[in-house]
Amino acid sequence: MTTATTPDVWIYVEHLRGAVAPHTYELLGKGRELAAALGGRLIAVLPGHGSRPLAGTLGAADAVVLVEDERLASFSAEAHGAVLAALAAGGMPHLLLCGATSAGIDLAAHLAGALGAPMVVNARALAVDGGTVIATSQLCGGKLLCELEVAPGTIVTALAGAFPADAGMSTREPQVETAEAPEALRQIRTAVTRLLEPSAGDVDITRAGVLVAVGRGIQRKENLPLAEELATLLGGAVCASRPVIDQGWLPLSRQVGKSGLAVKPGLYLALGISGASEHVEGMKDAALIVAVNSDPQAPIFEVAHYGVVGDLFEVVPPLIEALKGRRAQAA
Ligand code: FAD
Repeated sequence: MTTATTPDVWIYVEHLRGAVAPHTYELLGKGRELAAALGGRLIAVLPGHGSRPLAGTLGAADAVVLVEDERLASFSAEAHGAVLAALAAGGMPHLLLCGATSAGIDLAAHLAGALGAPMVVNARALAVDGGTVIATSQLCGGKLLCELEVAPGTIVTALAGAFPADAGMSTREPQVETAEAPEALRQIRTAVTRLLEPSAGDVDITRAGVLVAVGRGIQRKENLPLAEELATLLGGAVCASRPVIDQGWLPLSRQVGKSGLAVKPGLYLALGISGASEHVEGMKDAALIVAVNSDPQAPIFEVAHYGVVGDLFEVVPPLIEALKGRRAQAA
């Protein structure tokens, strides 16, 4: 266990193919607030290869620590973890924030094991109270929340969408400090050979402002154009519950829920979705949830702001006609 800690907050900068992951800006925004309250600096740690241009986008940090090496070009918990471990040997920060993403979770767990550091997962709120960091962590897929005092020197993974990204974006030119690649990189046993792309050109449902979500109630693949037409008229995209994806009617990149993506649109229109907890976990933070379901007892109505008890094949067509009518009037 690393004993000496500083009041600083470190953010692990996640990046892929020359772009910083949007979630990193959420961490930077929250990190700024926490570092100020702890009386420390906000440091963005950026391991990579040819990644210097990315540092210019991290102006919310007091400093960017850039570690360049060709073995750091692609993410691996072992390689990027070696960088953070070497930096931590000079003093562990009060908090090290990583995204609760596949890379962030992998890295945080690897590092916590390597350093013997405590770890808090799935934080959805972080605050400083009298010098102590308090985290609200989400457990059991969101069924339980746990509030805990975070010891100095803790690694925290934070949920995507938990903090506003705006606060972490700055046009300020950050101070860039270059650090040597650690010796430990020589002993790395894993190497990324190839990145497997998700289906090309698909919609990123995590960025859509309006989502029309279809569940098993859509019945057949041939009925999907109904949802697609509605989504187009609303300026949004179609996503789905797991059974629709499992049938192969839509790609995995459209799945919402525990084993899919977490979304936070302005409007989530759920058509023929029962509202199983594994689905709700991925959409409950939408600003406005409207559900159409023929079963008045469907659990989706417990999270919906507005509900229509009815057959979606009777509800949606008139809605489409009404939207078309409005569009024609506006033209
Ligand atoms: P159903 O539960 O079958 O519900 C269909 C609904 O449609 C019903 O409520 C019915 O009343 C309604 N309906 C039927 N016909 C009509 C009609 N004509 N008009 C209006 N309403 C109609 N699920 C996910 O969605 N995402 C996940 O990421 C996910 N991950 C999982 C991970 C694990 C480990 C496990 C165990 C399960 C996971 N699931 C996930 C599955 C989840 O438990 C549910 O089985 C699934 O969400 C149900 O999908 P559904 O609501 O579309 O189908």
